[in-house]
Amino acid sequence: MVTKIDHIGIAVKDLNESLKFYEDVLGLKAEGTEVVEEQKVKVAFLPLGDSEVELLESTEEDGPIAKYIAKKGEGIQHIAYRVDDIEKAIEDMKKKGIRMIDEKPRYGAGGAKIAFLHPKSTHGVLVELCERK
Ligand code: ZN
Repeated sequence: MVTKIDHIGIAVKDLNESLKFYEDVLGLKAEGTEVVEEQKVKVAFLPLGDSEVELLESTEEDGPIAKYIAKKGEGIQHIAYRVDDIEKAIEDMKKKGIRMIDEKPRYGAGGAKIAFLHPKSTHGVLVELCERK
């Protein structure tokens, strides 16, 4: 099933501002930034050991990250688990009665294939499945 924690997704109001903490204080290094239009976010990945921190800033006022911050404030927004075969993983989840937000994989930053599970099926955590080559 899942093989490791791929990344932790953190919703921030201002990517550049938040990088001061992650880079200057924690000493991580961002691998550039990417805008994912479909999800209305600008993201930065900061590798750390075998995993990464993903910082997400909304590019639109009605984007999912903007809504998340309006409701809950900045903070951990999702946990992403690595899978080898996302199509198979989605089928497995559905067979086990898990409610999927994405029934089909969609494009994620860095060319990953991703799919979200509904927090109602995961004890309150927005879980992302992530396949990378
Ligand atoms: Zn993510």
